[in-house]
Amino acid sequence: MTDPNEALIIGGGPAGAAVGILLARSGREITIAEKSSTTHDKVCGEFLSGEAVQYLAQLGLDIRALGAAPIYGVRLARRERIAECELPFPAMALTRRKLDEALLELATHEGVYVRRGVRIDGLRRRQAVWSAQVADGEALQARSVFLATGKHDLGGWRRPKGKQNNLVAFKMYFALVTAQQNALRGWIELGLFPGGYAGLQLTEDGNANLCLLVNQKRLRACGGDWQTLLAYILDFSEHMAERLEGAVPQLQKPLALSSIPYGMLLHDSEPDLWRLGDQTAVTPSFSGDGMSIALHSAKVASDLYLNGGTSAELAARLHRELRGSIALATTTSRLMIAAPELAHLLRVWPQLLRVLGTRTRVPQTALVG
Ligand SMILES: Cc1cc2nc3c(=O)[nH]c(=O)nc-3n(C[C@H](O)[C@H](O)[C@H](O)COP(=O)(O)OP(=O)(O)OC[C@H]3O[C@@H](n4cnc5c(N)ncnc54)[C@H](O)[C@@H]3O)c2cc1C
Repeated sequence: MTDPNEALIIGGGPAGAAVGILLARSGREITIAEKSSTTHDKVCGEFLSGEAVQYLAQLGLDIRALGAAPIYGVRLARRERIAECELPFPAMALTRRKLDEALLELATHEGVYVRRGVRIDGLRRRQAVWSAQVADGEALQARSVFLATGKHDLGGWRRPKGKQNNLVAFKMYFALVTAQQNALRGWIELGLFPGGYAGLQLTEDGNANLCLLVNQKRLRACGGDWQTLLAYILDFSEHMAERLEGAVPQLQKPLALSSIPYGMLLHDSEPDLWRLGDQTAVTPSFSGDGMSIALHSAKVASDLYLNGGTSAELAARLHRELRGSIALATTTSRLMIAAPELAHLLRVWPQLLRVLGTRTRVPQTALVG
């Protein structure tokens, strides 16, 4: 067997790229294996919360220079608009196409060996060395593995199912008519409909990202068909219908994702297996906090790793820090679908929106500066 690498990172999304950058800056020899060979769109609302913006700045990534669009407020709509409030933090919107590539470029610049088009199919540990099986038959050896495959589980390493796992996600970009683009600028809008909810915001190129979650029952009632589902949502929601009137889809078909283990949060890990981002915690999407968790886990993991900590300590710490916000986000997400009429509470108490916005994210006390 050849001498194993010090550390292998599997997956080059925000979590994997960030931990790679941080470890390489401390002089460690790091390899990232990323299955995609080129830039591509990902199922994501592309909302960067205040904590994510802060962590990206710490990494030295200037997202404004990449064109990130500022977001100042959130609006909630059911049939019509119900409530709106300023966000409790400055947020941004940036396509994953741009963000993920910029992070991998930065990782390369810092000396990480970034291997694109390398899909890991299996992972096992023998005599304190991990062996990752590449799809083409090659095996990569490492003493430590950072598991950052995000939404996709590695063969043999399935995550628990989570607490809300019956939702299917769709994402589509639209070019809005000018008046609607102007009305949306600076806002993230959440639209509730029977069986799901949708988020809409502008990205850096001026297109609107519509990212929605729908339960399987509603999707079946729509014949599993995107056009029927979209027509159903627009028929129900005056607000969304106004925004998308005359809008032109920008992808041939929507991106889709199912079996998302919302509410999943691990509390332990195998020796020298550092689980990051969606591989350790999956918070409901309406909170727009998944990327913050990914970047936070990367920062905590790199600090622990460089200071002789263990992967079990990482899991325990993230569990302690995130369990409250993920539990609240999961309960809220269930209510948004099971009892959306409760959202009308926000009409009389709009500050509740702000409270939920604050309490469903990585707590300020946990952030590492
Ligand atoms: C519908 C929806 C909307 C969302 N909206 C938002 C939002 O607006 N804001 C927000 O902050 N979060 C949002 N999220 C959550 C966010 O997308 C994730 O939390 C975040 O991407 C996690 O980062 P990650 O690095 O852990 O994983 P990912 O971003 O999924 O990255 C994993 C990487 O690993 C690679 N990979 C996977 N398998 C392998 C393999 N076997 N071998 C090699 N490479 C592999 C993938 O190609 C990918 O590049 C949303 C999620 C969903 C489902």
